Amino acid sequence: MTEVQLQEFKLEPDSELRFEVESKNEKVVLEVKSGYAELFGTELVKAKPYEFHTGAKVAVFTWHGCTVELRGKTEVSYVAKETPMVVYLNVHAALEQQRVAAEQESTRGPVTMVVGPGDVGKSTLTRILLNYAVRMGRRPIYVDLDVGQGHISVPGTIGALLVERPASIEEGFSQQAPLVYHFGHSSPGENLELYNTIVGRLAEVIAERCENNKKASTSGVIINTCGWIKGDGYKVLSHAAQAFEVDVILVLDNERLYNELKRDMPKFVKVVYLPKSGGVVERSSTQRAEARDARIREYFYGKRTPYYPHSFDVKFNDLKIYKVGAPSLPASCMPLGMRAADALTKVVQVSPSGALQHRVLAVSFAAGPHDDVLHSNLAGFVCVTAVDMDRQMLTILSPQPRPLPNTVLLLSELQYMDNH
Ligand code: ATP
Repeated sequence: MTEVQLQEFKLEPDSELRFEVESKNEKVVLEVKSGYAELFGTELVKAKPYEFHTGAKVAVFTWHGCTVELRGKTEVSYVAKETPMVVYLNVHAALEQQRVAAEQESTRGPVTMVVGPGDVGKSTLTRILLNYAVRMGRRPIYVDLDVGQGHISVPGTIGALLVERPASIEEGFSQQAPLVYHFGHSSPGENLELYNTIVGRLAEVIAERCENNKKASTSGVIINTCGWIKGDGYKVLSHAAQAFEVDVILVLDNERLYNELKRDMPKFVKVVYLPKSGGVVERSSTQRAEARDARIREYFYGKRTPYYPHSFDVKFNDLKIYKVGAPSLPASCMPLGMRAADALTKVVQVSPSGALQHRVLAVSFAAGPHDDVLHSNLAGFVCVTAVDMDRQMLTILSPQPRPLPNTVLLLSELQYMDNH
């Protein structure tokens, strides 16, 4: 039997314990023994064991001091006294003042966008600010435009969620009834036209919903973005800022981006420079790919609470699969009145073939291909686990039992190998 490693840390006020779980199939259990601590803005309950698995990169922060115990093998574990948490708390306080003003004047609360290069802690800051807001009794809207990670749904989508309680330590924000739109790639650069179209659509729908939900409207919106900030990436960010009519842009750790946004944004947009935390861990492209894979696996099989997906065969003839984006033609070959960019948002039918194996398909709420597919949100996802050309059948992994809903299925470039 292997010996369970036990470590105890005494944290002074304003410090954090950072640890990583690296080894395969490893589990580390965290417990607060005394004092108060939080994890990315969610309070930890004293004497309650929390489990972390392979790939977890964690910081346990304390404002007042605490004693923490870790059981299991951590790759790294150390206490850091230098953290930007006070600066982040000040940002929260400033947003809170705007929420109070919005409540008094019956206007919209602050719409905040978090930007910066890859691996600077954008998603973490978004989570901290949402948690602090909800702990003050607010109901903010969380928007995730990062198609590479898919924090709200699976990678290859953008989405929004009304946050009604702090993120669960082990499972993140509750995923009930998210609003999700299909993109189908892991980087906006794969189809800028489509990306901007769905970002615009999501912004429109959120604005409509806020009109009918005063609490959400005064609580405001926090938007997480992709780490692509140069060239077209910058244009994509500027477009998102315009579409959501942002009031505040928080720039993490990039002076060039900060200066560009200061120069280009209208004067009423507050652009704020923030330091990144020394604890943010850089991830290699392999680790990112693994994280994407893990997100899709979680969608079908759950994280801590297990899900039991269904697997069944469907005849080619019973499926309506489409993809967004036709091959682009030179302008001279385009039909009269059509722009080359229009081809990028065209919905085209896909004939079933071996190439569908392992592909994720988004189940759209659109009933048919002409029913404004791009503007319809998603009901969920299925994955093609096998293709039988002889029998003209696909085997589908689905959260719902058969039959598949009779709607449009949208092909994603993302793949998932089901070897659960
Ligand atoms: P991306 O550009 O890929 O979206 P990001 O800028 O959003 O990245 P995060 O996902 O927030 O960065 O952080 C990267 C990793 O670092 C995450 O695994 C997160 O849990 C970890 N992390 C963030 N802050 C800390 C910290 N203070 N201590 C330890 N780990 C941290």
